[in-house]
Amino acid sequence: MDRPDATFTLAYMVFALCFVFTPNEFRSAGLTVQHMFSEWLGSEDISFIHHHIRRTTLTVLFHCFLPLGYYIGMCFAVQEQNLVYIHHASQGWQIYFGLSLAIQLLSCALAFYWSRRGWANHPICRALNTHALPRSSWRAVASSINTEFRRIDKFASGSTSARVIVTDTWVMKVTTYSLHVALHQDCHLTVTDSKHHSLSPELNTPVQIVTITVASINPAVKPFDIRLKSTEYVELQEKLHAPIRNATNVVIHLTMSELFLETFKSYVRLNEVHRCPSGQELEPCIGCMQVNANVKLVRLCQGDGEGECQQCYCRPMWCLTCMGKWFASRQDQQQPETWLSSRVPCPTCRAKFCILDVCPIP
Ligand SMILES: [Zn+2]
Ligand SMILES: [Zn+2]
Ligand SMILES: [Zn+2]
Repeated sequence: MDRPDATFTLAYMVFALCFVFTPNEFRSAGLTVQHMFSEWLGSEDISFIHHHIRRTTLTVLFHCFLPLGYYIGMCFAVQEQNLVYIHHASQGWQIYFGLSLAIQLLSCALAFYWSRRGWANHPICRALNTHALPRSSWRAVASSINTEFRRIDKFASGSTSARVIVTDTWVMKVTTYSLHVALHQDCHLTVTDSKHHSLSPELNTPVQIVTITVASINPAVKPFDIRLKSTEYVELQEKLHAPIRNATNVVIHLTMSELFLETFKSYVRLNEVHRCPSGQELEPCIGCMQVNANVKLVRLCQGDGEGECQQCYCRPMWCLTCMGKWFASRQDQQQPETWLSSRVPCPTCRAKFCILDVCPIP
């Protein structure tokens, strides 16, 4: 590209998006507010609430600086436009400069207002105030949370942009701009949704993400959603000492094998369909006797004489669920990332097969 303004605009947009949404690469490079100002923010372990009061304030300031930062960058990227001298710039740029300056000044004013009276105006402190006992203040609540956060038996999960933390008496969700807090005894947790991902990006294993709504009987606490992996569900339940309602009957796969079965089925459905020769009757699956056999092992992954897979000559005898359970039962339980790519023997003739060789029978 030979137009410097277009190049700069594109580069700045990518930078701004990464700075706001912080993908893993950005985080490992240390380009986050939390990392760059770790000294001023203080340790999260020592002073959880104060750390997040400062972090959210700084995040608002930095994100509001992005439009003005673009203008300043353009002053240097396209010098012929004379953006440094605002009265020479075109009207469009003047309006843009005015708006971005206003956003920055507003955010500064907001940060200043929050910091007054020892941060008592900050939204986190006002949220804590609703939990304070009569004649005590948010500081008492903050120190209770700080103490509990330091304990090693807390439950912590979720992505960095929406962390879920459950301590002995508090349920919390930390997001980019805020901190949601609810008291165990006040809140009802309800499973509202779940999403199944065949492969998680970081571990190469199937994951089910469960959405749970936390609603408090305290009217000042707004309901909020938390998301976690289904395999962490039991741990959360133990920490809560209270049942989690499952109003919509979402099926939660608590173990790796259950999760794997869903993934196994979804992969097999993508495989080539096997047509039985005419006249061949399908018998009930010999594993469960509940449904008719509906899969056949056909070596499709490689040509003759290649690879480890072998042709199975058994007639269809198993259903998809039982075949999936068999496949999962033959895996190394400690290494779920190898499950999808591994080979197991046919339950009847012991010919080795892989997931690509399992053909559904319509
Ligand atoms: Zn079966
Ligand atoms: Zn076989
Ligand atoms: Zn194979």
